[in-house]
Amino acid sequence: KTHINVIGAGLAGSEAAYQIAKRGVPVKLYEMRGVKSTPQHKTDKFAELVCSNSLRGAAITNAVGLLKEEMRRLDSVIMKAAQETQVPAGGALAVDREAFSNYITEQVSQHPLVEVIRGEITELPSDEITIIATGPLTSDKLAAKIHDLNGGDGFYFYDAAAPIIDANSIDYNKVYKKSRYDKGEADYINCPMTKEEFLAFQEALISAEEAPLNSFEDMKVFEGCMPIEEMAKRGYKTMLFGPMKPVGLEYPDSYNGPRDGDFKTPYAVVQLRQDNASASLYNIVGFQTHLKWGEQKRVFQMIPGLENAEFVRYGVMHRNSYMDSPNLLEQTFQSKKQANLFFAGQMTGVEGYVESAASGLVAGINAVRLLKEEEEVIFPRTTAIGSLPYYITHTDSKHFQPMNVTFGIVQELDGPRIRDKKERYSQVAERSLSTLTAIIKNNNL
Ligand code: FAD
Repeated sequence: KTHINVIGAGLAGSEAAYQIAKRGVPVKLYEMRGVKSTPQHKTDKFAELVCSNSLRGAAITNAVGLLKEEMRRLDSVIMKAAQETQVPAGGALAVDREAFSNYITEQVSQHPLVEVIRGEITELPSDEITIIATGPLTSDKLAAKIHDLNGGDGFYFYDAAAPIIDANSIDYNKVYKKSRYDKGEADYINCPMTKEEFLAFQEALISAEEAPLNSFEDMKVFEGCMPIEEMAKRGYKTMLFGPMKPVGLEYPDSYNGPRDGDFKTPYAVVQLRQDNASASLYNIVGFQTHLKWGEQKRVFQMIPGLENAEFVRYGVMHRNSYMDSPNLLEQTFQSKKQANLFFAGQMTGVEGYVESAASGLVAGINAVRLLKEEEEVIFPRTTAIGSLPYYITHTDSKHFQPMNVTFGIVQELDGPRIRDKKERYSQVAERSLSTLTAIIKNNNL
């Protein structure tokens, strides 16, 4: 084997190609734009930012800021481009999108070991080492091939996600753990509502402001998965017989909060389901939503116990193909189904520009290790760049949804929890960067 293929010169593919070439391995980089476009891209340049021009928070006390700093230390081309082309944006890192893409196109395509081939790839290579990074808008023919490889629901359409909250921000005095009808373990956190609370909540949902739809988003895809605000509009029974059904969720003896008369069961219940193995994150069950993020915060904080909830990701509804990574990928982004293939970017269930690029970086390093028959590099969960592949490969497949980097998925510090968030995050960041420095040195990265 003499070279590595990378399919897709987006955020993930450009970074992967650069990481491979800088390690002395030739790359064939395939990109269809220029010959065929996607419904969202507007140019034929690499790493085009399809929407916002922000790479989000800059400070390392912000998880995506930490991830960016880790990527800088791993010589990321995406980070170099951001550095060169940044525009003022307060505490965020935003870029001039055109200059950003131009820089990356130039750096990658002018590298002597990179050969750029324009055209749509419609087959998966059977034995050459290949990174597939064709994004959430992967062309239909290739999407079908990926689906065949992965089988079943291996590459599916993601149309709705409920908000996810930080477990530490829940007020445990107002909620209780219980499974409906006490079946199995008491897996759910239940937020009970009185009739009055429920009616006020329904009213707030009905009048809350929805996010605008992107032009290519077809409301038809949402039919199977009704947003909670839509249910609220259809009448109170739709929610009460749907995700807010209270039956089988009686108050425990220990419950001292408000209730209607001497009722044994709340009028309505919002359930929270554990979202990751370490139980640091919970999602709001059945609350897929299309409300604006600020509105989600305002309305969902009316739920008893969630008054101070921190949202690590808001509910979203948009088109997005992604894989069942918990069943299909290794932490190196290598396919479990076919060892010569790696996947990277949004299609693996990481969410966001920076996260996509970070996954390309990890996949690129490991594709080279595979080619050179060297040991793989698995970044630990104490780092932001390691927490993402850990999350996408260890989450319960049934509830798996694309994930941004957050401190909720980075391994907690040892010892008692530091109450001051800034101080806690700053210690997490410090630990992460010193761990990463050692990994870079030990593995000659
Ligand atoms: P992409 O950057 O899309 O790259 C994939 C590349 O593969 C493309 O260049 C495409 O042309 C190419 N390709 C596809 N199929 C083939 C094929 N068969 N053969 C050859 N080439 C192919 N994230 C944010 O952080 N902020 C945002 O504001 C944001 N807005 C988004 C808006 C929309 C509409 C969408 C869909 C996503 C958005 N995202 C956003 C999420 C995500 O960060 C981006 O989609 C990001 O570009 C993903 O990077 P990627 O490398 O996985 O895919």
